[in-house]
Amino acid sequence: MSKPDYYEVLGVGRNASQDEIKAAFRRLARQYHPDVNKDDPQAEERFKLINEAYQVLSDPESRAVYDRFGHAGAPSAPTADPFGVAENLFQMFFGGGVATRGPIDGADRRADLTITLEQVLHGATLTVEVERLRLCARCKGVGAEPGTTPERCPNCAGSGRVRFTQTTILGTVTRVVPCERCHGEGEILRTPCRECRGEKLVRRRDAITVQIPPGIEDETAILLRGEGDSGLRGGRDGDLYVVVHIAPHPRFRRRGDDLATQINLTYPQLALGDEVEIETLDGKITLEIPELTEPYSELIIPGRGLPNARTGKRGDLYVRIGLKMPKKLTDAQRNLLRQYAELSGVRLKKYASAEPTSFFEKVKRSVRRGD
Ligand SMILES: [Zn+2]
Ligand SMILES: [Zn+2]
Repeated sequence: MSKPDYYEVLGVGRNASQDEIKAAFRRLARQYHPDVNKDDPQAEERFKLINEAYQVLSDPESRAVYDRFGHAGAPSAPTADPFGVAENLFQMFFGGGVATRGPIDGADRRADLTITLEQVLHGATLTVEVERLRLCARCKGVGAEPGTTPERCPNCAGSGRVRFTQTTILGTVTRVVPCERCHGEGEILRTPCRECRGEKLVRRRDAITVQIPPGIEDETAILLRGEGDSGLRGGRDGDLYVVVHIAPHPRFRRRGDDLATQINLTYPQLALGDEVEIETLDGKITLEIPELTEPYSELIIPGRGLPNARTGKRGDLYVRIGLKMPKKLTDAQRNLLRQYAELSGVRLKKYASAEPTSFFEKVKRSVRRGD
C-alpha cells in the first residue's frame, strides 16, 4: 500500500509557503484531533498522517529531500530504491556512527631533541621530556577510588547504549544512541578516583630514554612504540615520535657522512709544506701539508667523518686550507718579503723608485728623513 502524498494530505500545493503549510496543518489538526472524533476510528489514523506530513514539510531540509525522493524508501523498502539512495538518506539523517564502549586508542605524541655532532658520531643514550596522558597509577585506569568498584549503569544495563524509536519520513526508525546517564561508559563511578577524578588517565611529564644510533640524520624521527598516550578499554597505546635535531658545531659542518672544517696556515707553511696538528671530531691528529699547497684547496683525511647510519662505515674529513696573514710585519720580515718578490720577478709598485733594499739602506733613509 503506497502512502498518500504529503502535500495532498495537507491539501496544499507543492509551492506552498511555510505559512500556508502551518495554517493548513492547524486547521486539519483541529478537525481530526482524536479528542474531538472519539467515535471515528479513522480520524486517529488521519490525524497521525497529518502530523507526519507536517513534520516533514515544515522542515525545509526534510521537505527538500521529500521533494526530490518522495517517500523513497525507508531502509525497509528495498524495491523502491535500486541505487541505495535511501541508505544514504538514512545515514545523512540519522548518522552512521554510534559511540560505543569499544576500545579507545591512545594518541601519538611528539617530542624534540637537539644533539651534538659528537653524539652523532658515537651514538648516545639520552632522555627527553614528554607530556602525555597515561593510565592513572592510583586506580590503575579503572576510574574508581581504590577499594570501590564502578557500578553497572542501570539506565543502559551496562551496554553504554540505549535505543529509542522515532517517527520520521522514513517511517518508524529505531535509533541507538549513547546512554545519557553514563555517557556511553556503561558504568557509573559513585566514588571517583581522587587522583584522576574518574578520568582514568592523568596528564604527566615523563622523562623517556631514547637511544640515538650513530650516524643519525638531522630531523630524523625515532619511533618509540607505546610511549604516547595510554589506550583505554583494550585500545592500543599511542606512539612517541622523537624528532632529532643536530645542533650546529663551531668547527665542523656535516656533508652527508663527511665532515668539513677549515684551518688557516701561513704562506711559508703552504709554500714549503709542514706538519700541523689539527682537531678532528674524535681527537687530534697530525696532518701533513705538502709543499706548494694551493690556498683554499682541500685535504682529505679518510675515515674521519661520520658513520653511515646503515653501514656504520665512516666518511671522510675535508680540511680546507685557508691563508693566515700576519697582523703586522717587522722590518726584517718586510725586507725579506721584498727580496722574495724581487727573486720571483714581482715588481711591487710601492717600492719601484726605491733602491734595492737592505736593512742598512733602510736605516740610512730614516736618518735622512730625520725621524
Ligand atoms: Zn585514577
Ligand atoms: Zn548507561
